Amino acid sequence: MSVTVVGSIAYDAVQTPHGSRERMLGGAAVHFALAASFFDEVRVVGPVGDDFGDDEYAVLHGRGVNTDDIEHVEGGKTFFWSGVYGENMNSRETLETDLNVFETFDPKLSDASKQSDVLFLANILPELQLNVRRQCEAARFVALDSMDLWINIAKDALIAAISEVDCVILNDGEVEQFTGEREVVAGARKIMQHGPSSMVVKLGKYGAALVTPEESFWIPAFPVDFVTDPTGAGDSFAGGFVGAIAAQEGDVTADVLRLAMAYGTAVASFNVEEFGTERVARLTGEEIVERVAELQRITTFQATTVALR
Ligand code: AMP
Repeated sequence: MSVTVVGSIAYDAVQTPHGSRERMLGGAAVHFALAASFFDEVRVVGPVGDDFGDDEYAVLHGRGVNTDDIEHVEGGKTFFWSGVYGENMNSRETLETDLNVFETFDPKLSDASKQSDVLFLANILPELQLNVRRQCEAARFVALDSMDLWINIAKDALIAAISEVDCVILNDGEVEQFTGEREVVAGARKIMQHGPSSMVVKLGKYGAALVTPEESFWIPAFPVDFVTDPTGAGDSFAGGFVGAIAAQEGDVTADVLRLAMAYGTAVASFNVEEFGTERVARLTGEEIVERVAELQRITTFQATTVALR
């Protein structure tokens, strides 16, 4: 079985309080693919230009990611994004977005990508997300990410895309922007009225919440010693979360989703320790498993009753 991801493949420039990089491999589909590659075969669909080189392919191939559906646009330049993080690292400002080959991107999926049993629609134009979703009829689980831009300028199209997926993954600010609801569960439930059976609300360094019609489940971020660069944390979380769902056969039950939340959290915590893809590119499965076990340890308590007066 395999996971298909459609989204940006990028060069990123970032400044954080702990340093900067002028041009590093990034993009939502790349961060997602590296994270999900620990769980299943991953197929990336996205455009690159002439400047996308062997070193970048090597990072993806180093994790066994299938790049057959990466579209090389002759004469084009790869998508470029730059951002700067504030002192507390939970907020960032976009300095530059050069869409380049991404501007005219029209996803073309091979038959193999169309037949993946799990699909992740990373943050792209909602019309394209819907178009890809409809090409992947066999998918048993489809998740979608988006961003403030599309909520602002293409909300109806975004709702149309959301209405055909199983799970929406947004951060708390986007949920509030979408619904006007400040409270996570209330906002998530409003979005789920459009069709999805689950929603993940990312809370940055505070963790993430999973909301289903029956319940909500909360997990903190893994407490790392040092955050170097949060770029791609959301997509790495999505890669670990969706990958863990792909790796568990059968129905996507509440238990499957909860465990996937832990895997997403663990992978994202490695992502933030170094710039861009640097840490996840040399991550091991054992390291992920250790952090999932540690997450369980730090979030479990004995539910006996304390005598109250
Ligand atoms: P995250 O930190 O998880 O939100 O993801 C950051 C990644 O998203 C970076 O590697 C960027 O290249 C990519 N990105 C930034 N802006 C956009 C955009 N407008 N469309 C698609 N991808 C983007």
